[in-house]
Amino acid sequence: MGINIIIYTGLGVVIAVLLFLLIRKNNKSTTIGSGNLQENLRDEKQKSGIILNAIEDGVILIDKTGLIQLFNPGAAKITGWEESEARNLDYKSVIKLANEKGEAYTHQQDPLARIFKESNSTIRDNDAFLISKGGKQLPISISVSPLLDQKKQMTAAVAILRDVTKERLEEKQRSDFISTASHEMRTPVAAIEGYLALALNDKVSTIDSRARSYLEKAHDSTQHLGKLFQDLLTSAKAEDGRLTSHPVVIELGSYLEQLSNDLKFAAEKKGLALEFNLGSSQTIDATSKNSAGLKVLKPFFYIVADPDRMREVITNLFDNAVKYTEQGKITLGLTGDDQVVQIYIKDTGVGIPNEDIPHLFQKFYRVDNSATRTIGGTGLGLYICRKIVEMYQGRIWVESTAKKGSTFFINLPRISTTQAEELKRSEAINTINKPITSLSNSMIQ
Ligand code: ADP
Repeated sequence: MGINIIIYTGLGVVIAVLLFLLIRKNNKSTTIGSGNLQENLRDEKQKSGIILNAIEDGVILIDKTGLIQLFNPGAAKITGWEESEARNLDYKSVIKLANEKGEAYTHQQDPLARIFKESNSTIRDNDAFLISKGGKQLPISISVSPLLDQKKQMTAAVAILRDVTKERLEEKQRSDFISTASHEMRTPVAAIEGYLALALNDKVSTIDSRARSYLEKAHDSTQHLGKLFQDLLTSAKAEDGRLTSHPVVIELGSYLEQLSNDLKFAAEKKGLALEFNLGSSQTIDATSKNSAGLKVLKPFFYIVADPDRMREVITNLFDNAVKYTEQGKITLGLTGDDQVVQIYIKDTGVGIPNEDIPHLFQKFYRVDNSATRTIGGTGLGLYICRKIVEMYQGRIWVESTAKKGSTFFINLPRISTTQAEELKRSEAINTINKPITSLSNSMIQ
């Protein structure tokens, strides 16, 4: 898949250059009179045409009014529209994008709408679906690049579409295999872990000290294996949208306050100081004193999410903070504005080198340096955290300075107190009438 992306990106650049040349030569040929030059330009135009016709990917050139000006055979094959039909049509009638549930992309999700509105750099989407002319839903990768004139003004946009049916199918098979294998292996691993725990239990078994040290090592490794299978299972589920979620209204202030009671033991065990900056409490009128001794009003921070999933994310980030910090302090904080609630987990640990930060939330990515090499882990925790946060339309990222510490941030859409009260009432009604299965996504907005 990685190689595919590189080829795809490279192809995008080549196509953008070809189209740029094609447009430029077109314009120039009307002003330059030399016969030889005109022949050369015609030649080049023909070559560009041949290449665009031979490419399997769909290449679509859209002018700044949104009309399709170029539509290669690849685009015709993917979209089901003939070139003659698509030309001069508004791109919105031809490139209809949707998510995996078939729900049409909003303006903010649509890479073409976005490029015309705000962006002058390439926008890619590898998870989109295209609704073809015949109404078929096709998994595609789409990359949209602006064509800029000398004054850096956008003159047109070029969209490159790739049918990724085969890749998605392979991904699904891979993830199904991982799911089944980890599910099957979890049971015997849990049994081994259980028996090792019994062997280590003084009340049940008698062992000498050497046997104890071997069994302790075996027990640790089995626990690690169990965690790896659990993470593999969760990540496979997250990948194909099978991660269960029962979202309800959560007031993050009190939720984190409760959770912090469980979290603090891990930090205390390692001798790390702890600070909780949780900006909320039980009642809206609750006040506390800030560092200057002034009374401050603590607001409610409401979100809609599954409390168990949120616990998974925060525990994971907190455990990492403890794991990668030898001395100093860990801070769990909560803040936000009208639209967004922000949770942050800050540590004074080993930090993360700059070059690793862009890859950190990818599957199996672990920083490999002398500070982290000896610390065990699966490299799946942050990937799972990202998948869960994205499930609730949130964003997760990290800011870090190597050897100084890291701060992980989570932004989630905030709902107002009125919305929260309304949702809680409907949750209560749901509980009376039927078990809560989920609150619809539309409620999150
Ligand atoms: P792991 O199981 O390896 O901890 P994660 O996905 O949770 O997997 O984290 C990926 C990598 O990110 C880790 O291997 C570690 O190198 C780095 N990392 C995560 N959290 C921190 C942190 N708080 N401080 C420094 N490095 C971190």
